[in-house]
Amino acid sequence: MSDYYLALVDPVANVTNAKERANRLRDGLIVNGIISAETSEECVYGGLGHLPGPHLKDLYVLVEGLSDRPPELRDWDTLGICGVEIHAEKWVNVFGFTVFESAKCPACEKTFGNRSEIMTPLSAAVSHFLKRDEPTTLQCPSCQKTQTVQSWITTPHLGFCHVAAQFWNWPRFDAPGWQISIPEIASRILETNVVTTYGRM
Ligand SMILES: [Zn+2]
Repeated sequence: MSDYYLALVDPVANVTNAKERANRLRDGLIVNGIISAETSEECVYGGLGHLPGPHLKDLYVLVEGLSDRPPELRDWDTLGICGVEIHAEKWVNVFGFTVFESAKCPACEKTFGNRSEIMTPLSAAVSHFLKRDEPTTLQCPSCQKTQTVQSWITTPHLGFCHVAAQFWNWPRFDAPGWQISIPEIASRILETNVVTTYGRM
């Protein structure tokens, strides 16, 4: 089974406040015992990840005999790819493209599937967003209106943000074993509604 991740996107972070907001999110997750302050290159791909936090054994309770266990749940104790990356710079959910389902135009509400004509301009928008400082836009192949890529509604959410937290191989945030809601905690820390998304390598 290939590695997957859940991610939380801060929709209001920008180039100016990204560092401060990412630090606030990181510190809040550490205080709650969800992630550890200790980082490692071994627990994520190509970056630096925080190790799973010391309170997870209490925060996520697996009930034996209940079909509670997400089939992909890795044991945090194995210390495989199970870290949390906090991104404090431009981030696109690039591995969201491997599980991409749809994109909806905010103007005409036409929905485009994962083999449709939206995929080429959407891929171009990724490199534009990462390389350029001006806003990244996307033109609807149907109504021809051009709008910011962030205003499109996609499944999964593709990021196009300045702060994100990426949880490698963690159980789904809505899995019944959770005694807490990580998206709710992150939303309180950042004082905005974070967006939950996912991707697979
Ligand atoms: Zn449209």
